[in-house]
Parts: sequence; C-alpha cells; structure tokens
Amino acid sequence: MSRVYNFSAGPAALPLEVLQQIQDDIPDWQGTGSSVMEVSHRGKEFVALAAHAEETVRELLAIPDDYAVLFPQGGATMQMAMAPLNLAQPGDTADYVVTGSWGKKAADEAEKFCSVNVVANSADKKFTYIPDESSWSRSGNAAFLHYTPNETIAGVEFHFVPGGDVPLVADMSSTILSRPIDVSRFGVIYAGAQKNIGPAGITLVIVKKELLDRARADNPHLMNWKSYADSDSMTNTPPTFAWYVADLVFRWLQSKGGVEAIAAVNERKATKLYAAIDSSDFYSNPVAKDCRSWMNVPFILANSDLDATFLSKGAASGLVNLKGHRSVGGMRASIYNAVTEEAVDALISFMAEFERTHG
Ligand SMILES: *Cc1c(COP(=O)(O)O)cnc(C)c1O
Repeated sequence: MSRVYNFSAGPAALPLEVLQQIQDDIPDWQGTGSSVMEVSHRGKEFVALAAHAEETVRELLAIPDDYAVLFPQGGATMQMAMAPLNLAQPGDTADYVVTGSWGKKAADEAEKFCSVNVVANSADKKFTYIPDESSWSRSGNAAFLHYTPNETIAGVEFHFVPGGDVPLVADMSSTILSRPIDVSRFGVIYAGAQKNIGPAGITLVIVKKELLDRARADNPHLMNWKSYADSDSMTNTPPTFAWYVADLVFRWLQSKGGVEAIAAVNERKATKLYAAIDSSDFYSNPVAKDCRSWMNVPFILANSDLDATFLSKGAASGLVNLKGHRSVGGMRASIYNAVTEEAVDALISFMAEFERTHG
C-alpha cells in the first residue's frame, strides 16, 4: 500500500486508522451481515450510531444542552440559504462580514431572502486581512451577523470571536474541531463535513434551541432546522455512510486526546510551515500575520514559471494537491486535523530542497 501526503482543500485527507476501520466494517457491520450502507436508518444499530455521533461531537466541542446538533445534507452551501430562511423574515436585515469568497457567497445567497448589510469587506486587498472590528458598520436591528471564521481559499482565520448581542452565525467548514471554541458565544455554527469531519454529503449544524422558532412560514420542510431537531436529523433518509464515517472521525479525534490536543498539533504544524515560508525569499504568504489560517496555508513562488515544476516534483515525492485556488494562484497546503505533522515536515523539507535546486 502506498499513501501520499495529501494537502487537498476538500474533500480532504481522512485518518488512515479511520479508513482501515471502514475497510474492516464494510462486509459485516456490527454483526448485521450487511454494510452500514445497506441497513435501515431506523434500525437499532444505526440509531445507536447516530446517538453516539451526537454525543461524541457534544463532548469534543463541549456543546451546551441548550443547543441542538443537526446532521443535514446539502453541505455548507445549503446552510447559506438555511441561515436567512430560519432566522429572518422577508424584509429583515442581516449583517454579513465578507473576508473571503465563502463569506461573499453567503451574503449573495442571503440577498434572495432578506436585506443584507455588508458590515466589512476585505476584497480591496484580495481578502488578505480582517478589517478591524471597530470599523464594522453594523445595523442596529440585524436578525443575525454572519461571518466565516476560516476562509479556506485565501487562508484567513479569525483568532477572535466578534462581539455584539445579535445571534452570531459562523461558517466553520474549514476550522471546525481544529481548536476549542466557546459554543455559547454563537447562535449557529455550520460546517460541511469534507474538511475536518468526514466525507462530503453530511453537514454539522449546531443551533441554539431558542432560535428554532424563527423560520419564515413558507420555509420548505427540508430547509427548516426545526424539522431536523424534531426528528434526530431523520426527517428523511439521511446520508448514512457519511454519518457513519463522521462518527469514526469523532472517535479518532477523541482517541487523540480531543480538540485541545489536536489544536496544539495544529498550531505547531502551521507555525513551522509559516516560519519556513517567511524565512525564504523564494516563497511568500500574502496574509496579514495576525489572521493567518491554521488550516489553509497559501504560498506563492517568487518565480511563478516554476509553479508547474514545483507541483510535478512535489507529486513525485508523494506530496499531492498543493495547487493553489485559481483565484489566488501559487500553492496552497491544507493541513487539517488528519494531515499529520510528518506530512508537514515532509513538505517543509521538500520546499527547502526545491529552493536549493531552483533558487
Ligand atoms: C468548503 C467550504 C464551503 C463549501 O462547502 P460545501 O459543503 O461544498 O457546500 C463553504 N464554506 C467554507 C468556509 C468552506 O471551506
């Protein structure tokens, strides 16, 4: 077997232990004589799995009891519609902080359902910084404030939680479970699974229960958080295989010491990669130092003519999916929970060697 060092932005690397468990489980899951994909979501084995996944993620993130944990389909993008549909009436205003492409997409989607006030926008510097919170022009009567704690494309991360007393809605797709968070500061947290949770196809949504009765009257059943909350996320057939893998990833994270332990590893991985970039004139990262992402590290080669060679030599050394997003160019290393410190060390060594031979 040969496994690569996978720096994909998403769908992203999964822990090898989880893949091996899946391989073991496939033909005969839990003594059912079937794979998990072939059993009823209402059978006792799957119901127990669903309960275990919720219990484990509640423990990992210390989610208070007055929050519901939901597992809809549709990814983060569907939540960009569900947030306004569940929290705003037509004509209400919602505040949006736009610090990257995902935040912009969320604001554009919300405009179909309510009035959007963009309180801050860092597009003027290609999404490489976070405008100072004191400069945000918040509306007095916002139904909620939406922001993106980690912008996956430009690699910009909030290392603070915005203040204020309207419900905070956070798209945590690429930062969830990478570090401890104080859930009680948020109204809603959502995350597509395919970065730090599991395979694409399932979404984690954490909602303060008191917000579950604010949906507009014409909200479709499957767009309503309350439908999921009232049915243990089984309002229709759920993505059972993705849910099963998410549960395995939660178990894996617990076995690694939980979110605090992985956060220490993540900080170390990011710090050494940025240090390697900053100590060289050959590589650079354009993001303001106070908001560099722990999860997505873009870097540019001073000579972009070398990009293709960097990527092909990297791939030949087992380092894959390093091509930067087309809107940024250069490279991007996504170093989520399942990307080991060994993988980051291998990348740093490769970068130094490439600079030595091409610099
Ligand atoms: C990947 C990503 C998305 C898109 O997620 P889907 O599950 O494909 O809808 C949205 N927001 C952020 C911050 C992301 O990283």
